[in-house]
Amino acid sequence: MIDFESFLKEYKERLSKIFAGENETNKESLKRGIADNSLSEILNTNPLAAFIPSRYGGFGGNTAEALAMLEASSYESLPLSLMMGINGALFLQPIANYADEDVKRSIYDRVINANKMGGLMITEPDFGSEALKMQTSFSQDPDTGIYKIEGLKHWAGLTGMADYWLMTAREKNSRGELGRDISFFIHDTRNGGIEVEEYYNNLGLYMLPYGKNRVNIEVPADHKLEPKGTGITLMLDLLHRSRLQFPGMGMGFLKRMMEEAVTHCKQRFVGGQNLIDYDQVKARVSRLQSYFTVCSAMCNFTSTNVPLERNTAKMDVEANAIKSVITDYMQRASQSLLQLTGAKGYRLDHIAGRSTVDSRPFQIFEGSNDILYQQISESVIKMMRKFKHSNLYEFLKDYNLTERSSEYFKDVLNFELDVKMPQRKLVELGKALGRMISMEFTLNLGDQGFNTELIQNAVKNLQEEIQLIMKSYRSSLAPDVVSDYQMESSWFNLVTVDAR
Ligand SMILES: Cc1cc2nc3c(=O)[nH]c(=O)nc-3n(C[C@H](O)[C@H](O)[C@H](O)COP(=O)(O)OP(=O)(O)OC[C@H]3O[C@@H](n4cnc5c(N)ncnc54)[C@H](O)[C@@H]3O)c2cc1C
Repeated sequence: MIDFESFLKEYKERLSKIFAGENETNKESLKRGIADNSLSEILNTNPLAAFIPSRYGGFGGNTAEALAMLEASSYESLPLSLMMGINGALFLQPIANYADEDVKRSIYDRVINANKMGGLMITEPDFGSEALKMQTSFSQDPDTGIYKIEGLKHWAGLTGMADYWLMTAREKNSRGELGRDISFFIHDTRNGGIEVEEYYNNLGLYMLPYGKNRVNIEVPADHKLEPKGTGITLMLDLLHRSRLQFPGMGMGFLKRMMEEAVTHCKQRFVGGQNLIDYDQVKARVSRLQSYFTVCSAMCNFTSTNVPLERNTAKMDVEANAIKSVITDYMQRASQSLLQLTGAKGYRLDHIAGRSTVDSRPFQIFEGSNDILYQQISESVIKMMRKFKHSNLYEFLKDYNLTERSSEYFKDVLNFELDVKMPQRKLVELGKALGRMISMEFTLNLGDQGFNTELIQNAVKNLQEEIQLIMKSYRSSLAPDVVSDYQMESSWFNLVTVDAR
């Protein structure tokens, strides 16, 4: 096997050739799926080996290298990066930490030498955010040890295409009741038992097939993942590690959005000057540069703090902050590029339009951002209680994820936190906290020699954003839902006949 640097160079060159011409208009991007020869060309370079420890023939499972591979992928294609991310964080990494040794060896061998892929099935039509209530069940044959798993799963990335599935289910007892814990099983699709009942017309991410899967499978005893504690803790470790690695997918994408915007705005001539010379355009480009910088800081954090062996089950604040903030930035970056490119960008085959629909679901999957922001606040409030703090600033100035950034907000944070706040306030506070944590990472990146101007620019943008969120958080207007909104709500009826 070649070394990682040589791989990365070759991988970038190959992707750039395969996706060449996608910048302006490329009809290939309008097709669903990916051409077999393109996929083979990509997988033949062995990108998934970035997630596999060297004793199984991979590059080593080094987090920085995995993120660098995701970055190279998302610079050319966000869907491709998600495909790699699914394989890595939702399949190969949990296998590294929890699968039986022989099973692991055989799967890694097929991934490296036969281009096989894997995905994860958690979501069900009736249970998405509330995944712990899933109805897919399993029972074990006492004689053979074989697990029988039945249920209905949907929206699993690589539907109908993956060679392996990590399947989640709850144990069914003899009375037909489902247990509270969640178990994980590796299903080899050569054994059959998963029927795709419907393929979905996903709005974006055309490269990836999604749909509804009827599950009726049998899994050998040694194909169950063995958690070190409960299955739910395993699930938290899996989801947190994945969320912590989102910046890998964000990195190339945000770099691309920034570069596309700068190039376009330098070339486009409107009203007697280049777009880049307008102040409002500069504000947009400056924010795009901040997203790039903050994402770099997150990659730096994850690479240095989240080795494959570390259990991330307790890293909820870091994981939730990173995932929600970076996916908000990805969506905003694409929206901003679309604004700047004007009508030209409003095409599904233009990078701006495509990026807008491709990046949108990142705010929904693996934890809806609204819920993650709420959870960030709840975790911080729990810690404040534990350390008997009621003043937000007093807590954040000593909290390791906001020690430095909180200094910038001494005034706005210096108040007693009312812990009984409504959910919308928890969400808003979580947004501010998530950005403060991102700012801490950014300040730390600055210490390590990253471009000082970019760091200063990002810090200013974060300051503006956080101050705005905190202002809204402190306002006490709490508009409610109007239940009788259909009554007296026709503007037309109020226009007198005379006035018509
Ligand atoms: C492109 C894409 C890829 C996906 N990939 C996978 C995959 O590979 N494997 C897999 O198993 N699943 C996958 N999913 C499914 C995804 O994880 C779920 O869609 C997600 O968990 C949300 O579940 P739901 O769609 O049922 O929405 P719901 O649970 O119905 O939630 C919808 C919205 O309601 C609001 N909401 C829900 N609960 C609360 C609350 N407590 N408080 C306030 N607001 C709330 C939020 O705004 C939320 O976004 C994917 C989805 C998409 C769109």
